Formats: sequence, structure tokens, C-alpha cells
Amino acid sequence: MNIIFMGPPGAGKGTQAERIVDEFKVPHISTGDAFRLAMKQGTPLGVEAKKYVDQGLLVPDEITIGIVRERLSQPDCDTGFLLDGFPRTISQAEALDQIASELNKKIDHVINLSVDRNLLLARLTGRRICKSCGATYHILFNPPAQELVCDKCSGELYQRSDDTEEKVGTRLDEYINKTAPLLEYYRNQGILREVNGEQEINTVTAQISSLLRGLA
Ligand code: ADP
Ligand code: ADP
Ligand code: ZN
Repeated sequence: MNIIFMGPPGAGKGTQAERIVDEFKVPHISTGDAFRLAMKQGTPLGVEAKKYVDQGLLVPDEITIGIVRERLSQPDCDTGFLLDGFPRTISQAEALDQIASELNKKIDHVINLSVDRNLLLARLTGRRICKSCGATYHILFNPPAQELVCDKCSGELYQRSDDTEEKVGTRLDEYINKTAPLLEYYRNQGILREVNGEQEINTVTAQISSLLRGLA
């Protein structure tokens, strides 16, 4: 099963992806995670991506598309994949259709998580991530059992440098201008499904899971 998770920054894509890949046994492909890893390692890709990520701007399409093309060609994607945070522009979506057709694949489901802008701001500024395993928490909405310690691996939690109020504003504008138009693109293809991302984490997971199983 080939799945895309869409939604503004903070909608819950990463949180839901962690759970859905456990259930459906497909690789979780996050372009944001790929950029952060490259930035941490200081690779040429990371150095280039940092110029944009640090400002809350989208990384140019050529760079982003190249990463996804390479990743989707790996053998573990043969039985399916979950794309989280890609595509984010119309040209990325067109490139994805092209890549999929070259690889004899098709996108089965696009799940859009919708959340009001004010709530997104609260979610992003309170987000904390595990340094070791990447698990996502929230200081109020989804706190770990012990402050700043990951429940899963005891790793240390940190705040992303782009999760500040100032950068969040830019990221939400990028979403509205460049990514939101994609909803129409997938609605026209008849594969877009809407999920209310303001519900409890478990409720959202249950609804996505039913949609993917063809039960809703
Ligand atoms: P995205 O990947 O779409 O940017 P995340 O999954 O990282 O979003 O979630 C953003 C923040 O909101 C995180 O701190 C996460 O713990 C929290 N969060 C995610 N889903 C919910 C939810 N349904 N209710 C409350 N908080 C949530
Ligand atoms: P969020 O959790 O806010 O949805 P991500 O972790 O998915 O954020 O992405 C973090 C940053 O990485 C983005 O602000 C952007 O700079 C870059 N990025 C991630 N995915 C893409 C993409 N598909 N196209 C361009 N830039 C991207
Ligand atoms: Zn962890």
C-alpha cells in the first residue's frame, strides 16, 4: 500500500506515521527527517538544505525530488511506503507521479490531516523530539512519563530549531501558498481523504487505520 500523509506543519503527520507504519509494515519516508539527518552529519546535501530549513522555507524541488526518487527505488519500498511531508508543491506531486509510473507503482491513498492555525502554533512550539529514535512528544498534549526523557529508548528530548514562533509563521505561510493547492490536485485524482486532526491522537490513528483498510 502506497500512502501519502498531508497537512500543515504540526498537524500530526509524524505522530500518526510512527503508528501507522507499525500496523501496516511499510517504510516511513519523511523528507524533513532526511534533511535533519543530512544537516546533523554535515553532508553537502545537509549544508544546502540548512539554508532553507533554518529559515522555515521549503527546500528547492530539484533537491527534494532527487532524495525521494532514490529512496523509493530501494527494495524495501516494493511492498509499499508511507510518504510524510512529501510532496509539498505541485511540481513535487507531478514528479512523484512520474517516478511512481517509472517504478510501476501508484499512490493508493492521500490522507489530509486538518488542524486550525492557532492550535498548530501551540503544537509546534511545545513539540519535543527524541535525539536517539526520533519519537515525537508534546510538553502538554503528549508528554513523556519522565520530563525530557524518551519513553521508548530513554534518549534525550530536544526542541527543533525551526519550532520557534517566528519560524512557525513562515512555515505556515509556505504551507498555505505552496502546499495547500495540492489538495485540489489529489481531490481531482479521487484519492484524497480528509481526517480531522484536532481529535485525540488515538482517535485520529483509528480513523486513518479504518480508511486504509477500506472500512470507512
Ligand atoms: P507534523 O509531523 O505534522 O509536523 P507532529 O506529529 O510532529 O506533526 O505533531 C506536532 C506536535 O503536536 C507534536 O508535539 C505532537 O506530540 C503533537 N500532536 C500530534 N498529534 C496530536 C493530537 N492529535 N492531539 C494533540 N497533540 C498532538
Ligand atoms: P513539519 O513537521 O513542520 O511538517 P518537516 O519535518 O516535514 O516539518 O520538514 C521540516 C523542514 O524540512 C521544512 O520546513 C522544509 O524546510 C524542509 N522540507 C521537508 N519536506 C520538504 C519538501 N517536501 N519540500 C521542501 N522542503 C521540505
Ligand atoms: Zn527515543
